[in-house]
Amino acid sequence: MLGQSSKSATVNVVRPYAAAAGRTSSKTYAPAFNSTDTTGAAITAQYAYPTSKRLSTRSSAPQKLHIQAELCPTTLNGRSMLASTPKSAMRGPTYMTKRARSTIAELFRGNEEYMASMSKDNPGLLATLANEGQRPPFMLVDCSDSRVNEQGIFSAQPGTIFTAGNIANRFDEDDLNSNAVLSFAVETLKVKHVVVMGHYGCGGVAAAMVPLTGPPKRPADVAVQGWIEPIRHIYETSTREEIVAHREKHKTLPLAILPRLHDPAFRALVEENVKSNVQKIANSAVVCELFAASVPVPSSPPIDPDTLPEIYIHGWVYDVENGKVSDLNVSVGPPGRDLPFSPFPVIPPAGGAVGECKAHGGGC
Ligand SMILES: [Zn+2]
Repeated sequence: MLGQSSKSATVNVVRPYAAAAGRTSSKTYAPAFNSTDTTGAAITAQYAYPTSKRLSTRSSAPQKLHIQAELCPTTLNGRSMLASTPKSAMRGPTYMTKRARSTIAELFRGNEEYMASMSKDNPGLLATLANEGQRPPFMLVDCSDSRVNEQGIFSAQPGTIFTAGNIANRFDEDDLNSNAVLSFAVETLKVKHVVVMGHYGCGGVAAAMVPLTGPPKRPADVAVQGWIEPIRHIYETSTREEIVAHREKHKTLPLAILPRLHDPAFRALVEENVKSNVQKIANSAVVCELFAASVPVPSSPPIDPDTLPEIYIHGWVYDVENGKVSDLNVSVGPPGRDLPFSPFPVIPPAGGAVGECKAHGGGC
């Protein structure tokens, strides 16, 4: 896949989302998928598995085909999801490719190894979490990319990180999935730190740097292009030097070219996208309410500040090339509270930040 390497490549600009990289999971609080859902969960699913491959090929079981057609009757623009599937494929014999068989076997072996290692190294941990519930201190809004292994990156045990992954680590208050995950994390689980963590080499960000030549037509194009539209907006309006230079240069090129892994503009856009989403979370209604509740009011006897709610939003970036996590130094916390110390190396601030945070005295 184009976005998984540092190579530049000429792409068909009608489908630039194809550059988006790897992981094919979408993490929601309660796993669910709805084909009419325009949230990150649905979009990740469409992106992960082309429509034409989602259907059974069983010819001797027309009822099964019929059932699947009912499950996926239509999609965006009212087009049938069956429309692009050749009839010959529907009538063919049932089969499973060697690749599919071997990858499932890999997961099975991995699960057995995981159970054995947990039993040996952390006996009782899973049972304790299962019986007593989770109380993770961190929520991570990261990318669905398969190279971003959040538990592994931080050597974290189960029960430590509540995750919300989607293409290009976006948060949008109007997106029901994003908002439900954040609300559950801060209200019910009472996480203390919400981290937006982007990553260099992000395929979703790369796709937003490729100009569109017209409105997307295929369902997956429509979904993914709609999802990354806010990143495209940052690319098109940012005043950050590296991004401006890239924009001007690529206006004159006849063909769209995906950015290289080390392209300064690509890295800058990954960072600006993180900053933008930190601000969106800090300005969301649920976080603003918590910020307001965290301010001590005069009372007798005085309230212990440690009993008041607190929530901090951070912006970090992960380097898929060496595993390093850096801090973009855009953390936001309740009014009047010092920000917690972060030992992660700080990336120096660059000009042209997107918008202004309203969390401290502004729009809450
Ligand atoms: Zn990504």
